Amino acid sequence: MTSEEIRKSFLEYFEKNGHKVMKSFPLIPSDPQLLFTVAGMVPFKPIFWGKVEPTYTRIATCQKCIRTNDIENVGRTARHQTFFEMLGNFSFGDYFKEGAIKYAWEFLTKVLKLPEEKLWVSVYKDDEEAYNIWKDIIGVPENKILKMGKEDNWWGPVGPTGPCGPSSEIYFDTGMVELCPNPDNCTPYDDCGRYVEIWNLVFTEYYQDEKGNLEPLPRKNIDTGAGLERVVAAVQGVYQNFETDLFMPIINKIESVFNVKFKENEKTDVSIKVIADHSRAVTFLVSEGILPSNEGRGYVLRRILRRALRHGALLGKKEPFINKIIDAVFEKYGDIYPEIIEKKDFIKKIVETEEKRFLETLDKGTEKLINYMKNTENKIIDGEFAFELYDTYGFPLDITKEIAEENGFGIDEEGFNKQMELQKKRAREAAGEKEYAKMNPAYKFVGDEIKTTDFTGYEKIEDEGEIL
Ligand code: ATP
Ligand code: MG
Ligand code: MG
Ligand code: MG
Repeated sequence: MTSEEIRKSFLEYFEKNGHKVMKSFPLIPSDPQLLFTVAGMVPFKPIFWGKVEPTYTRIATCQKCIRTNDIENVGRTARHQTFFEMLGNFSFGDYFKEGAIKYAWEFLTKVLKLPEEKLWVSVYKDDEEAYNIWKDIIGVPENKILKMGKEDNWWGPVGPTGPCGPSSEIYFDTGMVELCPNPDNCTPYDDCGRYVEIWNLVFTEYYQDEKGNLEPLPRKNIDTGAGLERVVAAVQGVYQNFETDLFMPIINKIESVFNVKFKENEKTDVSIKVIADHSRAVTFLVSEGILPSNEGRGYVLRRILRRALRHGALLGKKEPFINKIIDAVFEKYGDIYPEIIEKKDFIKKIVETEEKRFLETLDKGTEKLINYMKNTENKIIDGEFAFELYDTYGFPLDITKEIAEENGFGIDEEGFNKQMELQKKRAREAAGEKEYAKMNPAYKFVGDEIKTTDFTGYEKIEDEGEIL
């Protein structure tokens, strides 16, 4: 099956089972507490929190997501991206554990035809109900139902109080036994890379109060999320998400622009994967009006873009290239997300402008950092120096950290953050809050073409990930 068929069959399967299929909500959530939509459930938070009554009790979506907490994983693991699509079905006071488990199982084994023997599941250790559904109704062998603690199979509350409950996850065995130190006894929780978490089913059944007591919720809800890229990899029989048809056209474009070959060399593969992932993220972020800046969402975009440029430099490119690679993104995703096609020229212009800006300083900054490391014995990059790279050469901390790590160096992040705070304070004092929040003059040409987001309430939760 192609990724298009898989995405469509998910939505059709749930539609057939009484779900209202909705289009993906934007990456910028309406919830002012959140930087990005990090999961399919985010647009429905007010319903989960009991603040809004649902119009539909069953909903299914394929949701665009961005997770900043996975930036460092990208390129290093086979299955993390910053941008990904999350397939999700939701029940608001309608079906509960049995329904959610049956649907997930039927979709994976009957619609997608993944072999049952390759699936493993986990439940929260005290969730007898979920355990018995898997064992007695679905018929999963007991040795493949893992009982896990709160760290792994419990969701919420977000903050001190709120809805929460146990979860159940479905894993796919890729058969990569060569990755297991102990292949005969290996389970998904050995984390060797052989098993992939593909689907998370959350059973929101309690409300946690100030004292930590769990009260049963009057309306129990279901929230599930399956990463499309991971599901497609399982169906298409490839190990890495990057080898699926969602990524290969982008990777082929990278191969031709850089004259490299994917899967020939581990080191260049990291760069190829980073560029492929980041090109998708950049396209979708700019399509929603986010512009590179030094704050909030704009800074996430800038970090992603600049990290891609650094990996381009590792592959030998000294001129803008992302604005070319993203042609493959438009091609692959334009039919499903027409909003990127509508803004195509605009996106390319923004991307190229930012590329040119950073390429002016990338080389000099890298050289400076390499020299610094040559002359530093304690293998630690000083916070002040990391800040100078940021301030003078535009190096986001991720880049400095990555180069440091490649050379066996650590980094004084606390020192860096301190310098950052000091600079912000100076800027606020010098110019006043309002002036300080203004858009970067480099992007003035954008004019009224697009509404920019300037919201500042999320600065404290910059590093969100997981389901919030
Ligand atoms: P992992 O443990 O692999 O980091 P997670 O437990 O953080 O995943 P969930 O919050 O449970 O992920 O999200 C639901 C599903 O979304 C996951 O089971 C996975 O299929 C997918 N997913 C999560 N994060 C990513 C990512 N960074 N890239 C691609 N898919 C992802
Ligand atoms: Mg997980
Ligand atoms: Mg999970
Ligand atoms: Mg995660």
